[in-house]
Amino acid sequence: MVIYGEIYGMELPWKMTLISMVVWLTGTAFVVAQSDCPGMTWDELKGNVNPASHPQFALIPDHLTSKTEIYLRTEALEALKAMAEAARVEGISLQVVSAMRTWNHQRRIWNGKWTSPRFMGFTGSSRATEILRYSSMPGSSRHHWGTDVDLNALENNFFESGQGAAIYGWLMENAYKYGFVQVYGDMTNGRTGYQEEKWHWSYWPLAERFLRCYLDLCPDEAFTGFDGAKYGDTLRIIDRYVQGVDGPH
Ligand SMILES: [Zn+2]
Repeated sequence: MVIYGEIYGMELPWKMTLISMVVWLTGTAFVVAQSDCPGMTWDELKGNVNPASHPQFALIPDHLTSKTEIYLRTEALEALKAMAEAARVEGISLQVVSAMRTWNHQRRIWNGKWTSPRFMGFTGSSRATEILRYSSMPGSSRHHWGTDVDLNALENNFFESGQGAAIYGWLMENAYKYGFVQVYGDMTNGRTGYQEEKWHWSYWPLAERFLRCYLDLCPDEAFTGFDGAKYGDTLRIIDRYVQGVDGPH
C-alpha cells in the first residue's frame, strides 16, 4: 500500500505536468499561428523590394543562370543549389531564366502585353483574361516573394521532347526532395487560374507561408497603378489566380 500510495502520489503531479504541457504547447501553437508573419508587410509581398539590398535575398550564381543580377530568398537559393547539383551529377542542367521580380518589373511585363498587337483584338476584361493565361497582374505574382523560379524555358513545348523532357522528368521525380513544387499543374484536378507552366517551380517551405501572409495582409484595393488594374476585382485575381495553385503531392 505504501508503494502504491507513493506511486499514486507521484501520479497526480505527473498528470498536472502533462496537462500543463498540453496547455503550454497549445498556447505556443496558437501564438505561433498568430505571429506567423513577423516583419512581413503588404508592400514587400507585392514586390516593392530591392533584392540587391534586402538582407534575406542572395544573388543567383552565374553557373545557375545566364541572366545577370537575379535574386532569390537565401533559403530558396540554397535548396535550388542542392537540387541543381544533384541534377548535374545525373547529366541534367538546370538553368534559372527568371527568379525574384519586383512590382515594377511585373508592371513592365504586364503593360507591355496590354499594349502589344498580340492582345489588341481583346477589349476590357477579356484582354486581362487573355494575358492572365500565363502572366500575373503586378502585385499578384509569386515571383515577387523570391521563393519561385522559372527553369530552362518558358514554353511547355520545350519540356515535351528531347533534353527538355529529360529535365522535366528529372524534376517530376526529384524536385520535391528539395522542397520544390510545380504549382501550376495541368488543371485536370480543377485548379483555377494560370495555364500549366512546366517551368515554374516554387520553394514550398517558404512560399506556403508567404501565401498565407499574402492573404492575411492583402488590402481591399490590392491592384492599382497599371493598365487594366480595375479588372483585378471582377476577375477575382486573389481567389482564382493567387490561390489557384497545386501543393506538394
Ligand atoms: Zn514563373
